[in-house]
Amino acid sequence: MARLVILGGGESGVGTAILGKKKGFDVFVSDKGEIKKEYKKVLEHFEIELESGFHTESKILNADVVMKSPGIPDNVPLVKKLVENGVSVVSEIEFASKYTSATLIGITGSNGKTTTTMLAHHMLKTDGLDVGMAGNIGDSYAKMVAEQDFGHYVLEISSFQLDGIIDFKPYVAILTNITPDHLDRYEYKFENYIASKFRIAMNQDENDYLIYDADDEVIKDWLKKHPVQSKLVPFSLREKPKEGAWLENETIKMNIEHKTLEMSTDILALDGQHNVKNTMAAGLAALLVNVRKETIRQSIQTFQGVPHRLEKVLKINHVEYINDSKATNVNATYYALDGIKKPIVWIVGGVDKGNDYRELMPMVREKVKAIICLGMDNSKLKDVFGNVIDLMVETYSMEEAVKVAYKISERGDSVLLSPACASFDLFENYEDRGNQFKSAIKNL
Ligand code: ADP
Repeated sequence: MARLVILGGGESGVGTAILGKKKGFDVFVSDKGEIKKEYKKVLEHFEIELESGFHTESKILNADVVMKSPGIPDNVPLVKKLVENGVSVVSEIEFASKYTSATLIGITGSNGKTTTTMLAHHMLKTDGLDVGMAGNIGDSYAKMVAEQDFGHYVLEISSFQLDGIIDFKPYVAILTNITPDHLDRYEYKFENYIASKFRIAMNQDENDYLIYDADDEVIKDWLKKHPVQSKLVPFSLREKPKEGAWLENETIKMNIEHKTLEMSTDILALDGQHNVKNTMAAGLAALLVNVRKETIRQSIQTFQGVPHRLEKVLKINHVEYINDSKATNVNATYYALDGIKKPIVWIVGGVDKGNDYRELMPMVREKVKAIICLGMDNSKLKDVFGNVIDLMVETYSMEEAVKVAYKISERGDSVLLSPACASFDLFENYEDRGNQFKSAIKNL
C-alpha cells in the first residue's frame, strides 16, 4: 500500500486525506499546530491516523508521496529532507487533479483571483453546467473529487499551490496580473514569484488556452522570453487583439475560436476598471467551455460580487461607505481608488509589506480629500502623503476611524476602507477588519 503523508490538517489537508483513503492509500496527517476539532472528527470518522501539535519524522520520511499545505514554506527542514530523499511533495491541486477527468479552469494572478473565479463559476452554473468551485476558496477540491466529482471545476490557485504541481494541466488557465507579493517566500526575487505564477501553463499544450492581461508589462515581457505551448488569449483595455477581449466605446468585445460577444460596461454589476478586466477573463473562459452568450450577459448583471472587495456597505447622509478590506497590497488599492469617481475619504494602513505608496500619488492628488491612517505604524504614510493631503488623521481602532470619517465626510463623498496593507496589527485577518468596518458603520 502506498503511503500518503499530509502536512497540515486544514481544509485542503483533510480533503486530500479523504480522497487518498478512498483511493487506497495508507494515509497519515501530521500538523505541527492544533488541528481543529471538526477536522479531527472527520479524520476519525474515516479512520485516518493523525498527529496534532508536532511532527514525528519517522512517520513522515517513509512516505511515497507528501501533500504539503500551502502555508508551509518549502525551506523548512522537514520538507527539505523529504525532497532530498526523493519523495514527491505536491499540493492539493496536483494530487486531486489525478483523480478527475473534469474540464479544469485554473485562475491565478496577484489580484482578482477570487472575483474572477466566482464570476466564472457563476457563468458556468447559470448556464446549467455541472461545475464545482474550489482551490484557494471555500471547500476542498480533493474532497469534492472524492465525494461527488463534477464535470467542470473553476479553481482559484495561489502561487504556493502552483509550486507544488508536477502534471497539473488546466484546459483554460487565467493569469489576471502579476505585481510583487509574497516575496518573503521567493527569496525576495520578483522573477521567482513570476516563474511560480507561470507554472499554471507549464503543462499546457496547443489544445489548451492561457488567458492573460495584455496590458500587464510583467506578463508580456515574461512571455516574450519564456514562450508557452498554450494558445494565447489576451485581454486588454488599451489595444485590440486579433483574438481575445478588448474595449471599444465602453463596450466589451470578445472574439475567440469563431465566437463573438459584445456587452456594454453599463450592465456590469461590479464597478471599476479592474472588474472590466475580471469580466473579460471570466467571459473568455466561459466562451471556451461553450457557455451561451446570453448566459454570460445575464451573469454579469446578476453577479453579487465578493464581500470585502469594493463592497458597497451603506449610504448615510448621501455619503457612500465602501469596504475594500481585501486590498492588502498597493496595486489592489490603486484599482479601488481608480474605480471610485467621487471625492474620497480614505482609510488606509496596517502591516506594511514593503509598500511603495508613491505609485498611488497621482490618484491621491486627484481624488483623495482626507486620509485616515489606521495602524500601529503610520510613519511611512505620513512621509509620502503628509505634504499633499491637508487633512491626515491617525486612529488606532476601526470604531475611531469610522467616527472620524463620518465627521469629516460631506454629501457626495465616498468613505473607502482600502488599507493596502495586511491586517494583523489590529485585526485577526482581512475579514475581521472588513466586518468591524461594517459594524462600526451600522452603529453610527
Ligand atoms: P485575490 O483573490 O487575488 O486576492 P480578489 O478578487 O479577492 O483577488 O481582489 C482583491 C483586491 O484586489 C480587491 O480589493 C480588488 O479591489 C482588487 N482587484 C480585484 N481585481 C483586480 C484586478 N484585475 N487587478 C487589480 N486589482 C484587482
